Amino acid sequence: MDETLAATAAKLRLDELTGEMVSKSELKKRTQKRAKKAAIQARKQTDDTKSREPDEAKPSAAAPDEAAHVDPDAMFKLGFLAEVYKERPAKEVLTRFPPEPNGYLHLGHAKAIAVNFGFAKYHGGKTILRFDDTNPDKEKEEFFLAIEEAVRWLGFTPCAVTYSSDNFQKLYDLAEKLIHLERAYVCHCVEAEIKLQRGGKEGKEGPRYRCEHAMQGVETNLEKFRDMRDGKYEPQTAFLRMKQDIENHNPQMWDLAAYRIPKDRKPHFRTGDTWKIYPTYDFTHGLCDSFEGITHSLCTTEFIMSRESYEWLNKALEVYEPMQREYGRLNVSGTILSKRSLEKLVELGIVRGWDDPRLFTLSALRRRGVPPAAILSFINELGVTTTSTTIPITRFEQSIRRCLETSVPRLMLVLEPLPVVIDDLGDLEGQEVDFPLSTHDTSMGSRKLKLTKTIYIDRSDFREVDSPDYFRLAPGKTIGLLRFPHLIRAIDFTKDGEGRVTEVKAVLDSVTKKPKAFIHWVPSDSKPVEVRIHDSLFRSENPSSVESGFLNDVNHDSEKIYKHALVNLGFDEVARTSPWPKSALEQDNANPENIRFQGLRVAYFTIDSDSTSEKIVLNRIVSLKEDSGK
Ligand code: ATP
Ligand code: MG
Repeated sequence: MDETLAATAAKLRLDELTGEMVSKSELKKRTQKRAKKAAIQARKQTDDTKSREPDEAKPSAAAPDEAAHVDPDAMFKLGFLAEVYKERPAKEVLTRFPPEPNGYLHLGHAKAIAVNFGFAKYHGGKTILRFDDTNPDKEKEEFFLAIEEAVRWLGFTPCAVTYSSDNFQKLYDLAEKLIHLERAYVCHCVEAEIKLQRGGKEGKEGPRYRCEHAMQGVETNLEKFRDMRDGKYEPQTAFLRMKQDIENHNPQMWDLAAYRIPKDRKPHFRTGDTWKIYPTYDFTHGLCDSFEGITHSLCTTEFIMSRESYEWLNKALEVYEPMQREYGRLNVSGTILSKRSLEKLVELGIVRGWDDPRLFTLSALRRRGVPPAAILSFINELGVTTTSTTIPITRFEQSIRRCLETSVPRLMLVLEPLPVVIDDLGDLEGQEVDFPLSTHDTSMGSRKLKLTKTIYIDRSDFREVDSPDYFRLAPGKTIGLLRFPHLIRAIDFTKDGEGRVTEVKAVLDSVTKKPKAFIHWVPSDSKPVEVRIHDSLFRSENPSSVESGFLNDVNHDSEKIYKHALVNLGFDEVARTSPWPKSALEQDNANPENIRFQGLRVAYFTIDSDSTSEKIVLNRIVSLKEDSGK
């Protein structure tokens, strides 16, 4: 057995024995460290292949790549999940997705959802959404609601929503049965003693042994367990331990806790004050899988060692035995996913809430306008294996672009409007030009764009002094405006007292030579909007490994707000005819995040939930190309 894993697992159980639920994150940290190396490697490759300076004239989006052709069911047909099915080709597949309702789901959970719901769906089966609500100290109603909403948003419908707490009585009865079978005892040892019993630090310092409590008779154990149930013990002074096999090399078999008395004695969200003791993950999970008749219990690889105790318990109690198999966790670089850490960012007000578009919770991705289909295809393209991977965030962004590039309409949006007055527009003024919403899909139709004497271009598209390597507007220079029937030449400009350019004067130009650049613009009757552009919330690739803590890695310049942006009037029509993309997953077109469009030469955008009838706020979903600064 892997020594490090054994030691970590030993520590894990100790934590649970004392009622501290820090176990899984411990394991994750280690996995993340290993994955960091791989991520840096992968990132290097991405950087090597990234595109050069964007071609200014072409409002092109993401470059196509071979991933675009991946079979949408590939993850079930090949590899790990195909093998799992071969091992147990059940006629009626029944899986479960078992989140702890202690926070909002994140991108990593989307993989767990895609694996569990997707596997069952692919085989014509069903999936239960089971809330693993055995730790009242950490659970809130808000989390239950957000979790179910996220699952449904991703496009999956649970065949039932269940709660581990539905089974508290059944679990209690089975714990008494285990005592009768002489396979459980009430223990009063403190953490240091338990450590010694498990062979000391890292399980290597001494022989393993059992405490005197393990020798108690059935009657004593029953009496003490009932006293625990009746609240006669203080938190952490007694717990029920399974009597497993301390000779076994697997620390998961060294008399794990089955029941504990939580520290805070908070009432349970569903069962109130009925219970003073709560079953541990190790006792609850396999038994609930068994009660529900789960065929394939799919979880992440931190639970590989738990498979033995999972099977031991179901066998000992002679109940139906589901099959547990483990796949690799999904981590992404440049952000944090753990619910515990996310909660800190929310509590400290570093972000706007659990759904802040800079986070990678599913509600944040939703608010940011990421279509669920992009998340699912990202996961499918990565495939499912038994290794835990850290994926460069740029790869996720590429999946989003690929999903949007042919499926959302195009509009013109100017972030920092600079007026350009075309003095000689003459008869053209007030005429309308056709503006197709898509160059790929004519069925999206077109909108009219009015030619006005004053138009607005982006401030960054004008320079006071021209130079040979600069292709956009400058005094004396001729350029094209996208969809505008004539080229224009800048002839003059004015500045305010602070030296800021306030207006450019231009004339129509009839040169026949094709200009080096076509820039975007909007007419004077455009719609004012606020635009929020979000960058990475963290400065480093792996914020959770920063020595002084991830909070010291926060990029405080990660949200740029353009208060006076302008979007052309086709916007209202695009909003009215949402959702974009018109995918079957998104039924409810009233949601603002379903209104998506490409701002030509700028980025993909959606409407933020902060919008009101008076003020539209847009979020950038993703840039058009990978940022060369990244
Ligand atoms: P976190 O610590 O990040 O909040 P967790 O593991 O505590 O996550 P649970 O609520 O216990 O979250 O997770 C429900 C299911 O989702 C579990 O089966 C778990 O293995 C899976 N899961 C959680 N994070 C990931 C991830 N990053 N990749 C794949 N599956 C995940
Ligand atoms: Mg957890």
